[in-house]
Amino acid sequence: MRAIYFEKHGGPEVLEFGVLDDPCAGRGEVLIEVKATSLNHLDLFVRRGLPGIEIPLPHVPGCDASGVVADIGVGVTDFVVGDRVLVNPSLACGWCEYCIRGDASLCRSFGVIGEHRWGACAERLVVPQENVIKIPDTMSYDDAAAVPMVFVTAWRMLITRGELRASEDILIMGAAAGVGMACIQIAKISGARVFAAAGSAEKLELCRRLGADVLIDYRQEDVLQKIRRETSGRGVDVCVDYVGKDTWITSLRTLTKGGRLLTCGATTGYDPQTDLRHIFYRQLKVIGSTTGTRNDLLAALKLIFAGKMKPAIGQVFDLERTADAHRLMEARKVVGKVVIRLGDER
Ligand SMILES: [Zn+2]
Repeated sequence: MRAIYFEKHGGPEVLEFGVLDDPCAGRGEVLIEVKATSLNHLDLFVRRGLPGIEIPLPHVPGCDASGVVADIGVGVTDFVVGDRVLVNPSLACGWCEYCIRGDASLCRSFGVIGEHRWGACAERLVVPQENVIKIPDTMSYDDAAAVPMVFVTAWRMLITRGELRASEDILIMGAAAGVGMACIQIAKISGARVFAAAGSAEKLELCRRLGADVLIDYRQEDVLQKIRRETSGRGVDVCVDYVGKDTWITSLRTLTKGGRLLTCGATTGYDPQTDLRHIFYRQLKVIGSTTGTRNDLLAALKLIFAGKMKPAIGQVFDLERTADAHRLMEARKVVGKVVIRLGDER
C-alpha cells in the first residue's frame, strides 16, 4: 500500500512517501480502505517524538480516518465490506476499572490510533471494530475525516467533563484551532454565549461564521479587559484553554468566581506559573480532559449527521504532500482543518 511513514523522529522532512506491506484484519478487527485523514497537533508531536513513549519504527501517523470497509476479521458482525465509515481514534481495553465505569479515555492501557498503532496516512488501515462508526451517504469522506478527534475532544471537555449549561458565558482561547471550531459549535448549540479569542481577522471571521458571539483579536486587544467590559466586570463561567503557557494566567483571570477552566492540551508550553490565590480564593475549578469515549463521539455525531454542526476544512492535500501539510500546520498558517485525501472519491 502507498503510505506516509517515518523511520526516525524529527521535522516534516522525516516523512517519507513509499510502499509498505498491506495489513490484514485480525480477530475483531476491520480493514478500511482509507479515503481521507486529517491533521491534528498530535500528529506533529508523534512525528517529533514524545518523551517516555517508545514508538516502533517505521511508523505510519494519522489518527483521524474515513473510508470504506474492505475486509472484516473473524468475530466482526456489525460491518460488511462496502460500508462507509469513520474511525474513533481512542483505543481502550474495555474491561479495566475506568473503561467499565464509562471513562474509556482514562483506560489503564489508553492509546490513540496513529500513535500506539499504525495510523491513517496509508491506503489501508486496520482498527478494532469498536472504533468503527458508519456514516450517512450524504457525508463526504473529507468531512468525515475532519470530525473525530476534534469533536470527540471538544464534546468530552465541554459537555461530559465541563458540564456546560445554557445561559453560561464561555471564552475559547485559540478558537480557530480544530478543537476550538468544534467547541464554538457545541457551546452555541448548548445555549451558551461564546467569546472567541484568535490571532487574526481571517481566523475570527471563521469563528463568527461558526456562531461565536463576541470576537477578540488577542494581538490587537487585551483579552482580560475585553472580557470584563463585555460581562460588566463579572467574567466568564467557563474558559477553554489548550494554548497553555502563553495564555494560562489570562485564562484564570477571565473567570468569574466559581468558574471552570477546561484544558485538553498545551500547544505553547506545559509549565506556566500559576498564582494559586486565584484558584482557592475565587474557588475556581481546573478540569482536565483528553480525547473522549465512543459515547462522547456518538453524541457529537448525532448533531453532525443531523446537519446541526460541521467541520470547517481549511485546506486539502494529496497523501504525497503530507509533509507540506505538516509544515503549514506547524507555521500556524492554516485556518480550519487540514485534510489529506487518498484517491479521488469524495
Ligand atoms: Zn480500560
